[in-house]
Amino acid sequence: MKKIGSFIAGILLSATVFAGTSEYVVQRGDTLSKIANKNKISVQKIMQFNNLKNMNFIREGQRLKLMPMYSQKNLNEQMVMAANWYQTSGEMQALSYQAFNMAKIIYYADLTSNKDNEQKRAVVVDIDETVLNNSPYDAGSIETNNSYPKEWNDWVKSEQAVPLPGAVEFLNFVVKNKGDVYYISNRSVKLLQPTINNLKKFGFPEADKEHVLLKGKTSNKEPRREQVAKNHRIVLLMGDNLNDFSYVFRGKTMSEKADLVDNLKSQFGNKFVLLPNPLYGDWEGDIYKGNWGMTPEQKNKARKEHLVKWE
Ligand SMILES: [Mg+2]
Repeated sequence: MKKIGSFIAGILLSATVFAGTSEYVVQRGDTLSKIANKNKISVQKIMQFNNLKNMNFIREGQRLKLMPMYSQKNLNEQMVMAANWYQTSGEMQALSYQAFNMAKIIYYADLTSNKDNEQKRAVVVDIDETVLNNSPYDAGSIETNNSYPKEWNDWVKSEQAVPLPGAVEFLNFVVKNKGDVYYISNRSVKLLQPTINNLKKFGFPEADKEHVLLKGKTSNKEPRREQVAKNHRIVLLMGDNLNDFSYVFRGKTMSEKADLVDNLKSQFGNKFVLLPNPLYGDWEGDIYKGNWGMTPEQKNKARKEHLVKWE
């Protein structure tokens, strides 16, 4: 009798300790629906967090997780070093100058070697992590459960993104030297005005409705590039994502992209100029095989499975 009493007390104590927190101990008469109701969580989530295959199969005394073992907050922690590098390293700053210096060399070479071409020159640049630095937005998710696109629109509307080193100078050089600048970005068209304001604030040239081409119906940038190419000759393209250069990378897997980059190697530093971005990108989705709906736990696992380690 005494043994049973202490056993029940133990269950009650556990239920008290864990109730409303991250764990629940199943009591006699509990069903998953009852537990879900009691803890304001869905049955599906409890099943997911506990790898339960059958909702009717729970037993008294079983400990159920009410929160994922590995949360978005845990996953965000993995961004700390990338954000530190992006925001504080002289190497990042130097790489940005290097990209815009290279762009200037390419543009200048075209000015001198293609003197007789009558078509107006254009330089096409992406915006985010190519000419504007949004890393405070990404860093802002660290130690929170937030992930993109939460608060993204608010960040853009705050117009606080600063230029990447060398960007403003190079793009002004283009406009002063017989060229137009086109900003082709997958920011939503709804964010056009704050985007223009943000660019203007820091002295970017041609920051207007004609030259800032944001995402309408499709994230495919090719139709917007074609629009520019109708009455311009695109001398070079700049971006932090392979899709900023060509449609051929769209929807491709990690290994297909690797082959395409090899095939197009002569373009990099000649027509395509890449800016570094270790914070986010399509490369992350490639690790998840395009399944962005993975849980943070699954994403963590997929990330670690793709590491190359020595033996
Ligand atoms: Mg970008």
